[in-house]
Amino acid sequence: MYLEYFDIKQTDWSPATVATMLNRLQGSGYRGLTLEVQGVLERFVQFRPDRALEVSLRGTERFTEILIPPAQPQTRVIIHRPASEIARVLVVGRNQHEVHVAATAVKMHLEQAMGGKLKDLITDENGRTGLTRFRRDVLPALGLLGDGRPSLRVPDGAALLKLLRGQPAIRGKPTVLASQISALKLDRSVEQMREALEQLAADGVVERWYVVLCSEGSHWLAVSESPDEIKAYVATKVACPHCGRRVSEEKSDTAYRMSENGQSYLSQNRWLCDLVETTLRRLGVEAVTVQPGGQALDGAACYHGLVLVFRAREGKQSAADAKAVRDQAQTLESQGWRTHAILVTDQPLSDDVKKTGITIVEGVSTLEPVLTEVLRAARMTNLQTLLPAIFHPVSVSVTDLIPADQPQTVTAAN
Ligand SMILES: [Zn+2]
Repeated sequence: MYLEYFDIKQTDWSPATVATMLNRLQGSGYRGLTLEVQGVLERFVQFRPDRALEVSLRGTERFTEILIPPAQPQTRVIIHRPASEIARVLVVGRNQHEVHVAATAVKMHLEQAMGGKLKDLITDENGRTGLTRFRRDVLPALGLLGDGRPSLRVPDGAALLKLLRGQPAIRGKPTVLASQISALKLDRSVEQMREALEQLAADGVVERWYVVLCSEGSHWLAVSESPDEIKAYVATKVACPHCGRRVSEEKSDTAYRMSENGQSYLSQNRWLCDLVETTLRRLGVEAVTVQPGGQALDGAACYHGLVLVFRAREGKQSAADAKAVRDQAQTLESQGWRTHAILVTDQPLSDDVKKTGITIVEGVSTLEPVLTEVLRAARMTNLQTLLPAIFHPVSVSVTDLIPADQPQTVTAAN
């Protein structure tokens, strides 16, 4: 379940205003519960040939409408009134994309129904005000202002770098040849990994060497960081000392090696923090800050009103470490935030760490499923805070139920 919403604030929520909005949506192909009940009502209340929608919509204070957008039968648009001057428009659907498309469309229709002033009337949209408070109040209080170092631009760049670290060292640095890239065993195509390594080289965490190898023994005959020098070498009549072929007939390849920057990047917990950040962003979380190497926390994020605080470290973590993360979350909770504390490590943890009750990620392969579930629960909780548990879609006035008097025939007495 995914959702988007916006609040429209204005003083005029008269039946006429609401009817104009609903009629516009109906005219654009939306099916609405109130709209359909309006048709059914005629069978139960006094027939009135002039009955307009705004006559049925007497009680717009508690008004709720549930609509199905055209061509999106699984999506729901819910309009309700959480406060006297506010109408909340909520779009609920199966995935982020469908929800966003439906929210954009409904905004356009409402804008036209309201005469083009919708933008100025929207007071909150998708928790925007909460995100502002998170950035302004929460991050400084947690000491998380970002460390200013650019993250790797490659998704899973840290994972790739970590796999590179496990490769055999050549002249002291773990190295992989472009022709043997599949040895890194990352769940991506060879072409994608090649592109990612090129990007890591541009980021300075990987060195790129052009090499010439013996076709028989795989001995390295020449290396250079310059492709032109390799071209010049291959153009010579020099022969391979191992097999006797001319070097122009030997194999050319590219070697990717861990650079000093790459080593220090992995020696800190930066790579793990980046992994948490890129995973959160991929799952649709916009407000994420990481600052590796803090006291208790390495980062925080805000999503659907939930503040997620996390510690992401390599190696063994103690119960005291987990409690420190929990304490930070509890402090925020006492200030009125919904929170979730997470400890991410690359290895299994002992039971006393788990007993602290915070969410534990043991090994990066389980990071995404755990975060997916935490975020799904956050959306669900948010939905419950945004909508009443029970809707009152229609109100029927008692005067509508009173049958009209039968016309009297007056007989004159003799
Ligand atoms: Zn050779």
